[in-house]
Amino acid sequence: MLTSIATVSVSGSLDTKLAAISAAGFWGVEIFENDLLTYTGSTAEVAALMRSLGLKCTAFQPFRDFEGMPPELRARTFDRMERKFDVMQELGTDVLLVCSNVSTAASGDRSRIVADFQELGERAARRNLRIGFEALAWGRHINDHRDAWEVVRAANHPAIGIILDSFHSFARHVPVESLRAIDPRKIVLVQLADAPALTMDELSWSRHFRTMPGQGDFPLVDYVQALHDIGYRGAYSLEIFNDRFRAASATTVALDGKRSLTYLDDQLRRRCGEALLPARGACRGVEFLEIAANEAEAPQIGHMLSTLGFAEVGRHKRKSVARWSQGGVNIVVNSEIEGFAHSHNVVHGASVCAIGLTVDAVERTLARAAALQIPSFSQPVAPGEFEIPALRGVGGSLLYLIESGRGAEIWQQEFVRSADPPAVDGGLTAVDSISQVMHYEEMYSWLLLYIALFDLRKTPMIEYADPLGLVQAQAVESPDMGVRIMLSTSAASQTLSSRFLSAYEGAGVQHGALATADIFASAAEMRRRGVELLAIPRNYYDDLEARFGLDPAVIERMMHANILYDRDTDGECFQFFSRAFAKRFFFEIVQRRNYAGYAPGNLPIRLAAQARFKSAPASRVP
Ligand code: MG
Repeated sequence: MLTSIATVSVSGSLDTKLAAISAAGFWGVEIFENDLLTYTGSTAEVAALMRSLGLKCTAFQPFRDFEGMPPELRARTFDRMERKFDVMQELGTDVLLVCSNVSTAASGDRSRIVADFQELGERAARRNLRIGFEALAWGRHINDHRDAWEVVRAANHPAIGIILDSFHSFARHVPVESLRAIDPRKIVLVQLADAPALTMDELSWSRHFRTMPGQGDFPLVDYVQALHDIGYRGAYSLEIFNDRFRAASATTVALDGKRSLTYLDDQLRRRCGEALLPARGACRGVEFLEIAANEAEAPQIGHMLSTLGFAEVGRHKRKSVARWSQGGVNIVVNSEIEGFAHSHNVVHGASVCAIGLTVDAVERTLARAAALQIPSFSQPVAPGEFEIPALRGVGGSLLYLIESGRGAEIWQQEFVRSADPPAVDGGLTAVDSISQVMHYEEMYSWLLLYIALFDLRKTPMIEYADPLGLVQAQAVESPDMGVRIMLSTSAASQTLSSRFLSAYEGAGVQHGALATADIFASAAEMRRRGVELLAIPRNYYDDLEARFGLDPAVIERMMHANILYDRDTDGECFQFFSRAFAKRFFFEIVQRRNYAGYAPGNLPIRLAAQARFKSAPASRVP
């Protein structure tokens, strides 16, 4: 797949954009006119820069309000066009993107429009240039690629072709199958953009919410497959207008763009019976969570874990690392004074510094990660020590990859079992899900990383209210639900998510949900052990009774234990929350009964309960 990206998709000055685009490995770049107009260097210097970076200029764009202009404006439009031709020749591109006219002055007379393109074709051909006509979803008379294609076909000029943009096609619900009617030799360029399914006007949707392929809800694999099937082999160019990406670093966005196209290309090829990359890694579960703590924090975390029913079952043979365990849940508390966990602790304080994921075919997954330009991590290990392969994850944390079925081996080889671990049990069985909070502009980046690398699917994005602002969340889940990771973010500065980011010095794991088969028994045992729980107001329970018609005795028990409840058409879930450690992370205990969701109705309740501790002393507040 020939990959290209429009400069409008990434942030910064034009030279910064081009450097990031080249470094990410793109073949070509579309120069967005505004980026050129605001750049201090000359057009010739931009052309030289693109050449030196090995980038082909795939198009100059956009030329607006061209076709169907009344006679008094038409001549001026063509004059304007000739000037753009000069710029294109200096830039070293032969393609100009002409988007459909939005002017109220424009005529919809098809024969006039076709005649305009015929004259334009003559002028472009004289200078060895080509025109690609793109239907904007909000074009005044042409707003559907089928109409743009009819105009191109009728103009029947070798210098006039069509530019397709998946956003415009999907925003107007134009059937993908209609692409098959287009002559592939007439397709000058294909622009790709995904977007979340939203109900709003197309212009605002396009200007603010476009995403990289895979990050939104459009069936882009179907789109590129239709084009592949008719024989299109030209460039695919990302044209992504998104407020988040404008706030993110050019390097990150360019790399995400390239990663999204690599992932798309792989999906396309797999449909054609081949593959570009090794298959996505199948995630089976969470083998451990690792908490980095200094010498003072480690005993406090140990205390918190013991109130949740964990026992310290072993210590690392050579390191200051303790393994706390309960059912299938392992929590590693690392208080080494050097190495990765220590560095993480210095920057972030006591916090989850790594997640150990159980994955089928680790080597293959690492090869896929390398092809997707996902950085790996390693640090020196002592002779005989087990080196677990790791990738860089959210907020500089690590994602360890543990081969399915080999978890026990690591514990046996690396840890000395405690001679007589205390017999405690809070009834926890496994890690149910992990919640990671991240900056607003980086959420799509991590979403893409998870779904492109692993066999995880994304759930629809949800929005919910924190007392101090709106929070957005989206989960990725393995098909058997063995791994669920909830990503959340907030653009508002005082929400719990945002305060977490400032308390934590960046993104990371905010909470781990741990599964129990008996929420009431777990709550009773943990309470007996002195756990500190998040208190839920009585009003919540009054409402619960009204909403679900539960037995008042059950509601009384839930209220007594601060247990929250939700039900959907398939099942029900119960949950309660521990108070947070040093504003950084907390645990949720959850019992699912045939319930797959995340109890969205309870999120504002939990956040409001946590917000009440906002100004309490740091060691005791969420
Ligand atoms: Mg476009």
